[in-house]
Amino acid sequence: MPLGSTQLMFTKTEILTLLQGCDDDNLFKQAHAATLEQFSGQVFMRGIIEFSNQCRNDCHYCGLRTSNREVNRYRLNHQQILSAAESAQQQGMGTIVLQSGDDFRFRVQDIEQLIIEIKQQFNLAITLSLGDRSLAELNCWRAAGADRYLLKMETFNQALFHQCRPKKQFDQRLAKIKQLQDLGYQTGSGIIVNLPGMSLDMLADDIISLSQLQLDMLACGPFVAHPQTPYADEPNGNVLLSHRVSAILRLLNPGANIPATSALDALQQGAREQALLRGANVVMPSFTPEQIFADYNIYPGKNTSTAKLADRVSTIKSAISAIGLSPSSTRGDACRKNYVNNDR
Ligand code: SF4
Repeated sequence: MPLGSTQLMFTKTEILTLLQGCDDDNLFKQAHAATLEQFSGQVFMRGIIEFSNQCRNDCHYCGLRTSNREVNRYRLNHQQILSAAESAQQQGMGTIVLQSGDDFRFRVQDIEQLIIEIKQQFNLAITLSLGDRSLAELNCWRAAGADRYLLKMETFNQALFHQCRPKKQFDQRLAKIKQLQDLGYQTGSGIIVNLPGMSLDMLADDIISLSQLQLDMLACGPFVAHPQTPYADEPNGNVLLSHRVSAILRLLNPGANIPATSALDALQQGAREQALLRGANVVMPSFTPEQIFADYNIYPGKNTSTAKLADRVSTIKSAISAIGLSPSSTRGDACRKNYVNNDR
């Protein structure tokens, strides 16, 4: 196994068998039952505020990469971010996710002040997704009241990681995940299913590595080819395979939060709701202001709706209710206490 020594409930061979679709009905049934047991049919609503699409990195799969000169770059100001947070609260979100590219123009005290004011004014849980920041910054934001931090690896295979994330350091990023946990953040990471060059064997290893970290949030979405990247001509990821991954992750990490990602819907209408019946328990509608909403174009199909914000949120809530689940306005913390003791 690639990381640690904790034993999981599936061997790698069993994971590979499940990834090949040998027992989909049973896998999805068990994953949904485990999700219901942990979260009682609640789907946690997170409002995501993509406050800057500036990024100094050059990840080959991402439309926001610094080499892409065709992006209309933006940064929201302090007041615009606060207004978006207020809107998220009014629309029944229990958490906001502050997300940006690796944009170091926002100083540590800028983010700190935002966290303090959002907590004071709106009492929302705050997830940060701001890239690989220094330990001092992470410490400061945690002290200011940030609850969670998401730092996606995209793959735990070192060679593949360096191939698709040329400006990133694998060991440093992995170590940062452990530092986040030590700082007391509810910590998340994630992978891209069918990243170009990823074999099924690597994907099985990624599932194991992700689960070994004992995370609170686990993200997996299919690769979506962006036309303004070096991976423009690569095939899109497989939606069904992505569903299998989230179902396996649910069974390996029963109490973790697993989002139904927007990348699923970008490839197949309705695939996001389907994921909520196959192990996922979180949805994250965007509260990025409508004028620049479409410019957070990580992949085609992201932030493309032309509907008004309130209508989009209402549509998502209706879709959740229609499949027999309940949209939840609570903070939606992970159920860490319920993690399976894998030692046996
Ligand atoms: S994946 Fe993140 S770090 Fe990489 S280019 Fe896109 S926004 Fe930047």
